[in-house]
Amino acid sequence: MPQVYDILVIGGGIVGLTTAIRLREAGVTVAVYDRGEFGREASWAGAGILPPGNPEHAVTPIDRLRATGSVDFPQLSAHLHESTGIDNGYRVNGGIEYLFADDEYSLELWAHEGIRFERIDDDRVPGATAYHVPDMAQVRNPRHLRALIAEADRLGIGLFPNMGIEAWHRVDGRVAGIELANGSRAGADQFLVAAGPWSERLLGPLDCQLGVHPIRGQILLLNAGSDAGPTRIAGKRYLVPRGDGLVLVGSTEEPEAGFAKQTTPSGLEDLRTFANRILPELATATVAGAWAGLRPGSPDGLPFLGNVPGYDNVFVATGHGRAGVQLSPGTARFLADRLLGRPTSIPHDAFALDRKPSVPARPAFRS
Ligand SMILES: Cc1cc2nc3c(=O)[nH]c(=O)nc-3n(C[C@H](O)[C@H](O)[C@H](O)COP(=O)(O)OP(=O)(O)OC[C@H]3O[C@@H](n4cnc5c(N)ncnc54)[C@H](O)[C@@H]3O)c2cc1C
Repeated sequence: MPQVYDILVIGGGIVGLTTAIRLREAGVTVAVYDRGEFGREASWAGAGILPPGNPEHAVTPIDRLRATGSVDFPQLSAHLHESTGIDNGYRVNGGIEYLFADDEYSLELWAHEGIRFERIDDDRVPGATAYHVPDMAQVRNPRHLRALIAEADRLGIGLFPNMGIEAWHRVDGRVAGIELANGSRAGADQFLVAAGPWSERLLGPLDCQLGVHPIRGQILLLNAGSDAGPTRIAGKRYLVPRGDGLVLVGSTEEPEAGFAKQTTPSGLEDLRTFANRILPELATATVAGAWAGLRPGSPDGLPFLGNVPGYDNVFVATGHGRAGVQLSPGTARFLADRLLGRPTSIPHDAFALDRKPSVPARPAFRS
């Protein structure tokens, strides 16, 4: 007889795995299913930029979620290193943000949360004012994902890669289980859909349409030979130097590409031009790689975190767009509380699936 778990998570990206670990730590039994290998989609592809934050003084729910990640990441990284032996590459290398006139909200946000920043003389980006943000951090996504998988395994979470969920098994109008591609079924008390941009397809049969869609992002990896210093962010483009001489250059934002995950010559050329303009010394850097990932976009830029209307045992965690890494610890805390029926520090309606459409959320986090 296959084991019946308390909670079954569909999707083994950073959101599904981090939430599964938090749930397991609370004492419930958890299984995670993925249609491919764990953590090989957007969660693997991301740049891992972690902006600083202060949850106590964050003004909006999304800022609170981001700031929670900023506070949790150092502890989570140390814990994962100790328990799995895998160093996820978390480090505070500082950042330089080039702000244009319509980015002024960042200054308010930093001031509200007491984040350290200082205006500096740097005219590499015409029309922008440069600020040094010393507490900006980063994590190396592939390493972080490996650590999460190892930790999930260590905690006894049921891990089922290469097992895609094809359909829901319903009994008396309630979801009782899932059906796999090979025709077998698995049951659980509660379900969490964390399937990135593919969540929309899974939710359709439950009469739930959120408008979650893929937004392709391309990354170019350069080898500069030595540490290129702080992270540099200008609008949607950035340079993320790893300490070992590698520099990630990101990232395009291409919703029109749909689920096509390949890089394009024009996208990569655009990134190379940006890199050379911001740091001319990168002109001699060799190309070490390139890839693309599909961010889960939502219509208003906010994630969907809550239960599916009409199905009180089916929850959703997706739509994190450009910020799923930095939002993953806060998301895991919020959803673990929701699934376990505990009070949440953020109101339920902030990220509810049936929230009223509003103006697009301000881009209070970027990557
Ligand atoms: C180029 C790029 C740069 C980025 N940079 C940053 C950054 O610097 N900082 C930051 O915070 N965020 C960044 N992001 C965003 C971040 O990576 C995403 O928001 C985050 O990874 C989303 O995680 P997820 O777990 O929701 O989705 P995913 O990683 O897509 O995971 C979903 C999983 O669900 C599985 N799945 C799908 N359908 C099924 C099914 N039917 N059955 C079972 N499993 C299924 C998939 O195989 C996949 O493994 C970046 C993204 C990209 C693409």
